Amino acid sequence: MQPATAITIPAEMLPSDGRFGCGPSKVRDAQLDALAEAGRRLMGTSHRQPPIKQLVGSVRAGIRELFSLPDGWEVVLGNGGSTVFWDVATFGLVEQRSQHLVFGEFSQKFADATAAAPHLGQPMVVSSEPGTHPAAIAADVDTYCLTHNETSTGVAMRLTRPAGIGDALVIVDATSAAGGLAWSPSEVDVYYFAPQKSFASDGGLWIACCSPRAIARIEKINSTGRWTPASLDLKIALDNSRADQTYNTPAIATIFLLDQQLQWMLAQGGLSWCAARTAESASIIYNWAQQSAYATPFVANTAQRSHVVATIDLDGVAASDMSAVLRNNGIVDTDGYRKLGRNQLRVGMFPAVEPADVAALTRCVDYVAERLRA
Ligand SMILES: *Cc1c(COP(=O)(O)O)cnc(C)c1O
Repeated sequence: MQPATAITIPAEMLPSDGRFGCGPSKVRDAQLDALAEAGRRLMGTSHRQPPIKQLVGSVRAGIRELFSLPDGWEVVLGNGGSTVFWDVATFGLVEQRSQHLVFGEFSQKFADATAAAPHLGQPMVVSSEPGTHPAAIAADVDTYCLTHNETSTGVAMRLTRPAGIGDALVIVDATSAAGGLAWSPSEVDVYYFAPQKSFASDGGLWIACCSPRAIARIEKINSTGRWTPASLDLKIALDNSRADQTYNTPAIATIFLLDQQLQWMLAQGGLSWCAARTAESASIIYNWAQQSAYATPFVANTAQRSHVVATIDLDGVAASDMSAVLRNNGIVDTDGYRKLGRNQLRVGMFPAVEPADVAALTRCVDYVAERLRA
């Protein structure tokens, strides 16, 4: 076996961009160029003044258009990313008891957040093995917590409102799915995410698309006087968002890069274009793995294989060596999710990633595997 560090992938085989992370993920050059261009006018200026409020307004309108949100839906945002939104939802969306579909690290963390909250009943957890997803069960709960794409395992679920749940809310962690996978607002009440995945921006912001029923829930909980830290208060966030602001100071560059990506997605053809593009990347990588002698898609059920995060098991090649060699050659962040503990590569295929680069990646992996196995 060649020492891993000695393997050099021929330059002509390399993808045009080597960023395949699952968040932070590839930011397109055009976004960064636009930031350099507009930066002097926007960076270092007040988020309470028109230029930045217009930027926030553009993001809110862009999201509304991308997802074809019906009248009455609102785009709410605040600081802290999706992890903080779990705490926001624990205070501002769950009335008494939630149900969580747990099928990986991220969905588990939200379940842990509501379980720890003294003001809520113990959540009902419906779980399944990593590499699969469970189905919701109609029960005595007021909020169903789904995950559109489990980034830790590469499992995506089709979003449908569970049958027989009355007027309970369906709230969806779409952190890695939003902008890369199709969904219908009729099936969902809250669709929340952060911008460092399909939206090719930076972390630290949460964005929640809220249905009229979700808005009513926010108002109702607020009216009961439940103690809520102001920075986690969804009613305060809602009021600020309506004025195209955040409660406290946001990272302006994050919002700018997000807006650039939204405008690009809309110009290319919107969500259907984005979803077709990630589907193309997914078909390239899964077809390659299926035909490979040493690589296999981790998710057995083809319908549950994510189009934005591919998890590929390796046999006879150490995935850690593979990722290390790729990194030495400028192809970064293909490492598997550590806690999953599998000999696996994980590849982000968000809309910013060129499908041709995914194809180039598979050829590079083959090239390295041949030499690692020799
Ligand atoms: C990345 C991710 C998160 C965490 O997002 P942060 O913005 O880092 O808090 C939560 N859920 C899913 C599904 C994710 O992919």
